[in-house]
Amino acid sequence: MPLKWPAIARSSFYEIVQADFVRHRHMMRKRPMGQTSGWSFMFCMVVSYLHATDLAPGHIETVNGPVPVAELGLVLEHEHVLVDFVGAKKVGAHRYVADEVFAAVLPHLQRAAGLGVRTLFECTPEFLGRDPVLLRRLSEASGVRVVTNTGLYGAANDKFLPPYAFTDTAEQLAGRWIAEFRDGIAHTGIKPGFIKCGVDGVSPLSEVDRKLVAAAALTHRATGLTIAVHTGAGPGLAEIELLRTLGVAAEAFVWVHAQIATDDALIAAAAAGAWLSFDGVQPSALPRHLELCRLFRERGQLGQILLSHDAGWFDPAKPGGGKFRSYESLFIDFLPLLLKNGFTLQDIEQILVHNPARAFAIRKKLVASAQAQPRGR
Ligand SMILES: [Zn+2]
Repeated sequence: MPLKWPAIARSSFYEIVQADFVRHRHMMRKRPMGQTSGWSFMFCMVVSYLHATDLAPGHIETVNGPVPVAELGLVLEHEHVLVDFVGAKKVGAHRYVADEVFAAVLPHLQRAAGLGVRTLFECTPEFLGRDPVLLRRLSEASGVRVVTNTGLYGAANDKFLPPYAFTDTAEQLAGRWIAEFRDGIAHTGIKPGFIKCGVDGVSPLSEVDRKLVAAAALTHRATGLTIAVHTGAGPGLAEIELLRTLGVAAEAFVWVHAQIATDDALIAAAAAGAWLSFDGVQPSALPRHLELCRLFRERGQLGQILLSHDAGWFDPAKPGGGKFRSYESLFIDFLPLLLKNGFTLQDIEQILVHNPARAFAIRKKLVASAQAQPRGR
């Protein structure tokens, strides 16, 4: 039985751990021991170590309203529920049956809850299938807190940008995003908890991508929402510099899909203060994620990295939503690998609990000389 939303919101640390053990024993019985005993034992250890008394200040907006970041618990900071690649011209809720998506995704969220996940950041922007009401239903049914976003996705050669992205100024775009934060998304009353944008992997930034980053800076200055940008091997350092010129500190920036960037670029971004999202955890990508965790541990910068799967998702273009990649490789494959390589439970707690709380707490992070007037185009 998944914990119901109000129950989980009130749960003490002790109750949460106890529930995890109960569910975990059940899970171990369902699978052959050889397959699970190693990681499941270690994961019980991890879960029992994690606690909900992190002292990070501030709050986040979930699809069920504001929550202190100290209560986020174990976070998956970059995942997806529904993604529709049909493009901005054709996308819409008419493309899928919400009940069908709900039924397909709920077991995956319940499984994640069973592995200790308390909060999931859903990174699908508008015009790619963002559906806050569906997310709220899934959150309530699974007991996993879900956070949605505002912003626009300029990667993939602008296929997911609406016409107004090209005609609005940065100020006008920011005005739309700030309004979602202030009033909720499209009369749902559901507020975004962060800004999610995307840029193409070219340097310099294209004109429209530059405008999206500028709009994100203006929105951050008005709201304190953290700026996560799909960047990959793209111009992350240029984004950080542009944000800086607009008065926004690198601490407000999450370099999404950082695992495919060069080490040199990531080292420079971390030195500037940015967050690095290593969000491609899956069996084929474990060596690269391990290498990066080790690199930043050696550099004393474990406090700036984030881990997630970029998994999911229900694709309306495919029968039954296509093959759904579950939110579990981090727990089954990667945490045991980290422990085997000398990472401690404290390190894991730092990366999965404390770092996301600090990265996404809604708080203005401005450069020291932020008297600079924001500008953009
Ligand atoms: Zn993603």
